[in-house]
Amino acid sequence: MRRLSFMRFGKSFTALALGLMLGASALADDHAKQKIEVIPVAEGLYMLVGAGGNMGLSVGEDGTFLVDDQFAPLSETIRATIATLSDQPVKFLINTHWHYDHTGGNENFGKQKAVIVAHKNVRTRLEAGGVIEAFKKSVPPAPDMALPVVTFEQAITFHFNGETINLTHPQAAHTDGDALVFFEQANAVHMGDLYFNGFYPFIDASSGGKMLGVINAVEAVLAKIDDNTKVIPGHGPLSNKAELRRYHAMLKAVYEQVAPMKQAGKTAAQVIAAKPTAAFDKQWGKGFLTPDQWVGIIYEAI
Ligand SMILES: [Zn+2]
Repeated sequence: MRRLSFMRFGKSFTALALGLMLGASALADDHAKQKIEVIPVAEGLYMLVGAGGNMGLSVGEDGTFLVDDQFAPLSETIRATIATLSDQPVKFLINTHWHYDHTGGNENFGKQKAVIVAHKNVRTRLEAGGVIEAFKKSVPPAPDMALPVVTFEQAITFHFNGETINLTHPQAAHTDGDALVFFEQANAVHMGDLYFNGFYPFIDASSGGKMLGVINAVEAVLAKIDDNTKVIPGHGPLSNKAELRRYHAMLKAVYEQVAPMKQAGKTAAQVIAAKPTAAFDKQWGKGFLTPDQWVGIIYEAI
């Protein structure tokens, strides 16, 4: 199960890299064929897996509430998948952060009258466009229809489908516009890219991300959830508190290795050469980032 998800993620990342090389149409073709897997989380709550970041979906008497929307060419497949679970179009669409593998469908869903909601920095970054330095990926400014129309700074609560859905913003973590989405009655949380389940995570220093912010955010989630909580990661398979605790321990141990080296004035190349993650590479280094790439990324995010 976990291995399958690695492969799926790896495949989508390869597709992304190929798409950048071959042009957008190759990528669009690949995405148009992508199937969406529906994973039940709780009554009326699902995790949807396709290409890009995992989605969360609440369906019920008030309509449909979607968390993240992957890439634009998948929108029709996502819509059709939702139609198998509800006869309602998407009413609210949450962006957990601005990255294009989580917000690529915004324009399509915006045109279908979804109300897009996100932290204020998501709107600012989507509106301006920008460069994700670690991948040298330039993101053009988003069209108006793709922009969040409701933004928040610290927290916002939805009362929808019998759920209390709390969005909270951890400061400077994966980016500077992250949202955690707690479904209180279902006892579930969608963590966006604060959590990559099973492999080294990307932290986007060029979008205001900080490794310590990720560690603090994961700690705050751990303090809030219990052993029965379902944890939807931004990437990787559906998870739980025990796995999140192991992820946190890994992040903390690596931070404690790398931060003093950077503070002592070592260059990124020197820190990478010192192999500070060696003890963790076997378990966590087989995702889309190699250990060396990851150390380079966290060096920037410390
Ligand atoms: Zn991301």
